[in-house]
Amino acid sequence: MKNLLSYDHGTSDTPLLGITISEQLKQTVDKYPQKEALVVPYQSYRATYKEFWEQVEEVAKGILSYGVKKGERVGIWSPNRYEWVLVQFATARLGVILVNVNPAYKAAELKYALKQSEISLLIMSKGFRQTNYSDILGEVRAECIHLKHIVVIDHDWQTLIEAGKSINTERLEAIEAGLQFDDAINIQYTSGTTGFPKGSTLSHHNILNNGYFIGQRLKYTADDRVCIPVPLYHCFGMVLANLACITHGACMVLTGEAFVPEAVLKTVQDEKCTSLYGVPLMFIAELNDPSFDKYDYSSLRTGIMAGASCPESTMKAVREKMNMREVGICYGMTETSPVSTQTFVDDNDYRRCATVGKVHPHIEIKIIDPETDGIVARGERGEFCTRGYSVMLKYWNNPEATASVIDDGRWMHTGDLAVMDDDGYVQIVGRIKDLIIRGGENISPFEIEEFLHQHEAIKDIQVIGVPSDKYGEEVMAWIVLKEGSTVTSEELHAYCKGQIATFKIPKYWKFVSEFPTTVTGKVRKVEMREISAKELELEVRH
Ligand code: AMP
Repeated sequence: MKNLLSYDHGTSDTPLLGITISEQLKQTVDKYPQKEALVVPYQSYRATYKEFWEQVEEVAKGILSYGVKKGERVGIWSPNRYEWVLVQFATARLGVILVNVNPAYKAAELKYALKQSEISLLIMSKGFRQTNYSDILGEVRAECIHLKHIVVIDHDWQTLIEAGKSINTERLEAIEAGLQFDDAINIQYTSGTTGFPKGSTLSHHNILNNGYFIGQRLKYTADDRVCIPVPLYHCFGMVLANLACITHGACMVLTGEAFVPEAVLKTVQDEKCTSLYGVPLMFIAELNDPSFDKYDYSSLRTGIMAGASCPESTMKAVREKMNMREVGICYGMTETSPVSTQTFVDDNDYRRCATVGKVHPHIEIKIIDPETDGIVARGERGEFCTRGYSVMLKYWNNPEATASVIDDGRWMHTGDLAVMDDDGYVQIVGRIKDLIIRGGENISPFEIEEFLHQHEAIKDIQVIGVPSDKYGEEVMAWIVLKEGSTVTSEELHAYCKGQIATFKIPKYWKFVSEFPTTVTGKVRKVEMREISAKELELEVRH
């Protein structure tokens, strides 16, 4: 008899990996020493697993030479480059907690991350796009008292490697031998639903296993070559890609510091990639790029589309036009390592396009009525919850926030609305959390509201997401000005520039005298969204 409640559990013949990331990498290196591990064409970089292991060791020793100890936080602030990947595995070998800093961060956000996780060593690029990282760091450094060392990859990389030469291998191996797979190894800041960004604190066990089972569902082998245009600072890059690769002996292929559709298409062809990743927006841009017909996609077999709702038409197009006949969808969130459900490569078209698949091995999921916490019947909508090895250890230094999302039964409440069918396939149908997802980047309205509240002309502000064909959602701010104050949207835009990441700066500004509220005085963001969506639609039509 079928289970009538929206609860499912991923049974599996494959046991969880009960080892650290370092031990897993070593096993893969021993098994496939001559297979390519990492290829970064735009840096003319390629390394076999054996070479990769040796370089990871050099970087680990370099980090050790700065006196960083197990459990301390090392930040990486850089767009995608091979050094990022080396630092990911070097810190894992040392038991040092890697803090991923978003490459788009500006002064206010950087300061927050450095202080909140008390980063002692920051490894950073010299900049990204037009942004000079040293200038930004200069603005905030004095306030970050824990920050002792800075390594600018473009200038100091060799110095780091040289410094590591004084460290002997036995010392590194002794540290590795003392690590446990439940140790925290990574902090990823998420926008969360309220308050400032929260540092999802993840263990070896969390992310290594998640990467492993993602790769298993995609049927990865050591012959797979995964094309990675998604950012490494996000779990889509460092877990779904990097950890899925190293657990199966597959090759990681990076495509550029920033996303350029043609560079991705060319890399797929030149590096004979078998798998391609992206948020829906990236696939749409690739399919519509004028260069699309120039390249050969015959090497592709599979890939992942995730991060936001995946349009069925885009899924169909990548299967038919890019030869990604086994493409899948993943659903998850950073706090759950991230993936909870995934489609299978042999699912039928409907399931592979319109659902986010079924529960992952060893994980439990349920869909509940958020008011009562009761599990809803199959086919009914409710809040998606996850339990199991994948649920983060905690939000870094934030027990209240942790307790607000992980309940006494150890279920992580995602804030996403979902429906489960009789066969356990899940559809994501909305969100109850106050979050904007713009082209795959999560944005907390609260964070922008807090920042703009500091502006002297603003009395009150509410930030919402409005529909956008290009990005799925765009950021809009509704503003109530203080009496007698005037300010233009251009001035507010300039006020945000350089302080908060460009993707968070509202595209639309609406000046109002009050917000729509409920009888109890709660702001009705749903109504604001409806009003603004209608107004914007009218604007487009006229
Ligand atoms: P992040 O923590 O950045 O990975 O973002 C997690 C959030 O992205 C989830 O809570 C969902 O709201 C959204 N999300 C991720 N994957 C999907 C998907 N396949 N379909 C719809 N929404 C998704």
